[in-house]
Amino acid sequence: SENIERHEYDVVVIGAGGAGLRAAIEARAQGKRTAIISKSLFGKAHTVMAEGGCAAAMGNVNSNDNWMVHYRDTMRGGKFLNNWRMAELHAKEAPDRVWELETYGALFDRTPDGKISQRNFGGHTYPRLAHVGDRTGLELIRTLQQKIVSLQQEDFAETGDYESNIRVFHECTITELFKADGKIAGAFAYYRSTGQFVRFDAPAVVLATGGVGKSYQVTSNSWEYTGDGHALALRAGATLINMEFLQFHPTGMVWPPSVKGILVTESVRGDGGILKNSDGKRFMFDYIPDVFKEQYATTPEEGDRWYDDPDNNRRPPELLPRDEVARAINSEVKAGRGTPHGGVFLDIASRRSKEEILKRLPSMYHQFKELADVDITAEPMEVGPTCHYVMGGVEVDPDTAMSIVPGLFSAGECSGGMHGSNRLGGNSLSDLLVFGRRAGAGASEYVDALGGERPAVLVDDVAEAEQRALLPFSNATEGGENPFVVHQELQKTMNDLVGIIRKADEMELALKALEDIATRTRTVSVEGARVFNPGWHLALDLRNMLLVSLCVAKAALERQESRGGHTRDDYPVMDSDWRHVLLQLSALGEDNVELVRKEQVPMRPELFDLFELDELKKYYTGEELGGHRADSA
Ligand code: FAD
Repeated sequence: SENIERHEYDVVVIGAGGAGLRAAIEARAQGKRTAIISKSLFGKAHTVMAEGGCAAAMGNVNSNDNWMVHYRDTMRGGKFLNNWRMAELHAKEAPDRVWELETYGALFDRTPDGKISQRNFGGHTYPRLAHVGDRTGLELIRTLQQKIVSLQQEDFAETGDYESNIRVFHECTITELFKADGKIAGAFAYYRSTGQFVRFDAPAVVLATGGVGKSYQVTSNSWEYTGDGHALALRAGATLINMEFLQFHPTGMVWPPSVKGILVTESVRGDGGILKNSDGKRFMFDYIPDVFKEQYATTPEEGDRWYDDPDNNRRPPELLPRDEVARAINSEVKAGRGTPHGGVFLDIASRRSKEEILKRLPSMYHQFKELADVDITAEPMEVGPTCHYVMGGVEVDPDTAMSIVPGLFSAGECSGGMHGSNRLGGNSLSDLLVFGRRAGAGASEYVDALGGERPAVLVDDVAEAEQRALLPFSNATEGGENPFVVHQELQKTMNDLVGIIRKADEMELALKALEDIATRTRTVSVEGARVFNPGWHLALDLRNMLLVSLCVAKAALERQESRGGHTRDDYPVMDSDWRHVLLQLSALGEDNVELVRKEQVPMRPELFDLFELDELKKYYTGEELGGHRADSA
């Protein structure tokens, strides 16, 4: 066993996306010595790729907007399966978090009268997304990083050491969490470049590792998103919820093959883009589900008028929630009305002037020009669904972001509950800020409450973590498989058998295949040294992807209805009896999971009363509706 580098902190934040950085800023603000650990380079996280904007009911563009409207939209988007307390906190606190970013130095696009501008997005009743062109995530990350640097400068002035209270460890991947006496005690990691191990002793850990997309073949997610936080939480004894709900974004690039899955922002539709099939038909009008009939235009003329006069017209169906649009595209392609490369057409060229497109969608223009040689100001794009976002994640207390494991917190995409069965666009960036801050505060309070009684990392656990990490090297002598081969098989299994449209027999096949993949994952082998060895890194990630995939497949098989990001071919309708049921997963040994059904906590009465009884009837059982204001009146 080597002499392992060791650090002690009050709070260790795993992940340097929006959620992790906001959590770290809060923990430092509350006087905690904080480490930020990031698998990729500092500044390279999904958050930086977010294009459309950050949803917050500031009411700058339409003064009718307020937190209650945002709350209702979020619950509708999630088909009322959301953790309502999280949705409430999110809707109430998002505007303050956006304002606060400007105090850190962010500069959002402006309305003519100088307010923060807000744009339309699917499922949001009013223009609500604060944005910076189509590079909002970049500004968010830039500002949070700048804030961290400014805090480090304050610390330097006081202590003579920039890193005395907040330090970033980048290209450093956490592979294990440590516990002692049932509580969090620290974490174990390796540096990507050297392969050296490092241990962090800390009583509080915040998981902010983002998504799980790399378990799928076609995804908008990049290499880091292997569900590490989800798997670390499970192994530490925490629970996951909502794992059956994955968001397939309706518009990913479909061509050329090397870029398949890369995201085409929803802003293209928010700014007027429309979807057409190979017959040239604007098909979304055929796909407005009953629950949304009243809110969406029934003719192209009305839909087009809405952009300029939203108070007197209904929005076009291209702006339905993402799950609806993704399914519609899937159906058109299946029916043989797809484009040459198996997608549908997304047309902004015939709808907006070249100048407007270049101003509002500069990144999209460059993305298509460079990657596909398509000029989006002159011709339509070809797009199709891509695995984009996981609604499921660590089950946490809504107010403190703590999981059931004392000292283990989670925020951002890695946590579950807030978005229910489907997330609205723009609600992630605001989620990161609201719950990142809450996780940082929750962790700080927890550390304070512990006082001097910090759980000590056990020496044996460190040795075990080290051995576990080195396993792929020792497997080499036993002729184990190449991790890249096993990964491809996992991705194909999930894509083909637990994808956008699901069937019981296919998911049973997937679970069988995953059993086999589990055995093969346990014995994957890598060669060479520990110095920058991508095969080794993947071997370690694979263990996490497998566990997460098992959760998705098991939960998806269990839920016998279609809702949000979970569509069953064999149970095509939404079933009110399933609305209040959460599927909760916990780890069962090294590579298995256990699923139990759990009742959702009923919504607080005054929040329940924010909805019309007629709307609730579409989602709730008769029994649950008792006590509504309209019912008791
Ligand atoms: P991330 O930003 O994903 O960061 C995760 C961090 O964890 C990274 O630093 C990573 O290196 C680190 N990490 C992971 N595993 C480990 C490990 N084992 N050890 C150490 N570090 C680890 N949402 C919106 O609201 N609006 C949008 O316009 C929007 N556009 C998007 C466009 C694209 C192309 C994509 C992919 C997503 C978009 N989203 C958007 C979704 C949103 O960007 C993400 O959900 C959100 O940024 C996730 O933030 P996060 O802080 O939870 O994690």
